[in-house]
Amino acid sequence: MNIPFNKPFLTGKETLYIEQAVKSGKLSGNGFFTKKCQRFFEKKYGFKKVLLTTSCTDALEMCALLIDCNSEDEIIVPSFTFVSSALGFVRQGAKIVFVDSANDHPNMDVEKLESLITPKTKAIVVVHYAGIAVDMDEVMNLANKYNLIIIEDAAQAIHSFYKGKPLGSIGHLAAFSFHETKNVISGEGGMLVINEEIFCDRSEIIWEKGTNRASFFRGEINKYSWVDTGSSFLPSEITAAFLWAQLENLDHIQERRRKIWNIYFDGLKSLEDKGKLLLPKIPNYASNNSHMFYLVCESFDIRSELISYLKARNIHAVFHYLSLNKSEFYLKENESVDLPNSDFFSNTLIRLPFYYELTRDLQFKVISAIQEFYA
Ligand SMILES: *Cc1c(COP(=O)(O)O)cnc(C)c1O
Repeated sequence: MNIPFNKPFLTGKETLYIEQAVKSGKLSGNGFFTKKCQRFFEKKYGFKKVLLTTSCTDALEMCALLIDCNSEDEIIVPSFTFVSSALGFVRQGAKIVFVDSANDHPNMDVEKLESLITPKTKAIVVVHYAGIAVDMDEVMNLANKYNLIIIEDAAQAIHSFYKGKPLGSIGHLAAFSFHETKNVISGEGGMLVINEEIFCDRSEIIWEKGTNRASFFRGEINKYSWVDTGSSFLPSEITAAFLWAQLENLDHIQERRRKIWNIYFDGLKSLEDKGKLLLPKIPNYASNNSHMFYLVCESFDIRSELISYLKARNIHAVFHYLSLNKSEFYLKENESVDLPNSDFFSNTLIRLPFYYELTRDLQFKVISAIQEFYA
């Protein structure tokens, strides 16, 4: 039996709601289902304003436009992350300054941040890796001290908390993903969270191709026109309808994922106790939204052997990310910088199969295979 790395979960209502959207005769964005999803998040997590987007990448591009990011700016971004954390800011011509991971966690080392801040620093992109919070009090203190904008890349961090506060509600702006590999999905999809009043009106304009269309449809103005920069960042009602079917089941999905995570943790703890590998570390201030289960191997070679060993047993484990500071694109224009912890996690981290329908039996197959590998 093949155990894939990921399998999108359907709650069963997706096609019903899509049918409703289709029959309603309103297929473009910002309709019934879009508003329902946006309000759901504003209410459940206390986000000031939510706009659905076609991806988290798009939501991050909107952030770059909202903060007027330009070639005079430096943006601090972790090196151990997905390209999208940097992409929107690079397109605006900003210089990306990479921060290393902590030595005991793939998340950024907040203690290294202050030394990277210069008079040109405009923003810090905070990535909550595996949905585990970065120490946001430390980050927000720096933001206040140096007048910086904090953007949470919360792509993996839905329903996760820092000292009880929902991730995505702490920074000035935040971006989430509903890509099919995340906890809650719509195929491709994402959302922008705006927590600062000063960005609220403009975010709608950038979302709607630089026009004040949203304001027009609320009857606040009597014609709409081109007033700013922007793009077409809003998803169609078909995507929003799919997402709504997922959101109705969010608590249930989270509960299932929590059980899967705990089975892995309990089944592999003995290997960590024997010093063979490291399991995910959850700091006291962070909750765990069970976005993924990863292991940290002792070396690159052991990881490669483990992945092959599992693959031979039809178990598909994967690795990511390659440090962005070592990427071909970055090195074309920039000097190489040495970020040993980011490199360490790039070389040794492995993600195990993780999806809603992963049964106990299949999980035990994965756990036994890893136990056998190390025996
Ligand atoms: C998945 C992911 C993204 C990109 O999300 P999309 O919705 O696919 O654009 C960005 N950042 C991180 C940390 C991610 O995990």
